Amino acid sequence: MDICSICHECIDDSTPTARLDPKGCQTLLDINSKRGLQLKAAPGDIVHVQCRKDFTRPVKEQDISVTNNVIHILLEV
Ligand SMILES: [Zn+2]
Repeated sequence: MDICSICHECIDDSTPTARLDPKGCQTLLDINSKRGLQLKAAPGDIVHVQCRKDFTRPVKEQDISVTNNVIHILLEV
């Protein structure tokens, strides 16, 4: 079973997913290092489309409607 590199939850067939290409992966890692996070992603990893959107979206305090772990982590930085 594949695991999303961002939220670490299992990938199931009912959730849209994306496979990271080298460029997309680098984008995630850039954000990761800017925010001091611990994301581990490599080209070819699978992520939820929604997770990637949430992760790459500029974080504005007023604009947090998502309550998953990733967003909580971002808020604590
Ligand atoms: Zn995910």
